Amino acid sequence: MNVEDYRIQPNTKVNLGEWDASDTGTVPDKETAQYLLKENRKKIIDLQERLYAESAQSMLVVFQAMDTGGKDGCIENVFKGVNPTGCRVRSFKVPNDVERAHDFLWRYHQHTPRNGILQVFNRSHYEDVLVVRVKDLVPKSIWSKRYDQINHFEEVLESNNTRILKFYLHIDKDEQKKRLESRLDDPAKHWKYSSADLKERAYWNDYQEAFEVMLEKCSTATAPWFVVPANHKWYRDVVVSSAILAALEEMDPQFPEGDKNLDKVKIPN
Ligand code: ADP
Repeated sequence: MNVEDYRIQPNTKVNLGEWDASDTGTVPDKETAQYLLKENRKKIIDLQERLYAESAQSMLVVFQAMDTGGKDGCIENVFKGVNPTGCRVRSFKVPNDVERAHDFLWRYHQHTPRNGILQVFNRSHYEDVLVVRVKDLVPKSIWSKRYDQINHFEEVLESNNTRILKFYLHIDKDEQKKRLESRLDDPAKHWKYSSADLKERAYWNDYQEAFEVMLEKCSTATAPWFVVPANHKWYRDVVVSSAILAALEEMDPQFPEGDKNLDKVKIPN
């Protein structure tokens, strides 16, 4: 499995219909995938500890998907075991009155990571070119400028040593149907079901188009988007964890040097 296969090159037109949501690359089965995920996770846990100790750079991981795309499950599986002190997850819902009274990036900027932190966005500033575009929540003259504004925003973060990775979890329409049905069938999943999901499903094509434009305009060399095949949850988790691991390895965080002469220190009784 080569994670680079799923990276969108800058300014490349994307047709999601051509991306197989059931792709499992070279991973033969779920068992192998679970082994690979575990191995990736061990290394992520070690590197995240170094990132936190070093406190000189940070990481921002963005998740977007259609409803039932698996953002919550992927976050749970990939970051299991990471030291919670150095990791934050922020979910973004419909903006409240105060948030709506500010520029659209205001609420996101408050949650960007400080040095040493691994920050996850479950939904993100991209909602402002997704649901906002599909539902005409602001005029086109406003949302159409946001692609550039988002790229500039991310450049600001990058120049402050924040590494940005963005994952679009790609499921197809049949898979969404199955997942919605399973929410109806299982009482433990009833809380996840909302009639709003059906209304959103009716906009499937509009959302796919909005995702395609977002992927084309906002996958940059330094803050790439990945289209992650997500019908198989086990493969999705291998792809996402591999991309995060590769980026952390490149960042190469180091434990700070301790004081000199520590070998001469005696702790008094
Ligand atoms: P999730 O599906 O992420 O588990 P919810 O079911 O509470 O969480 O859905 C969050 C809702 O908030 C989604 O319908 C999403 O479109 C909406 N939302 C998020 N950001 C914005 C935004 N900037 N403008 C309008 N709606 C938004």
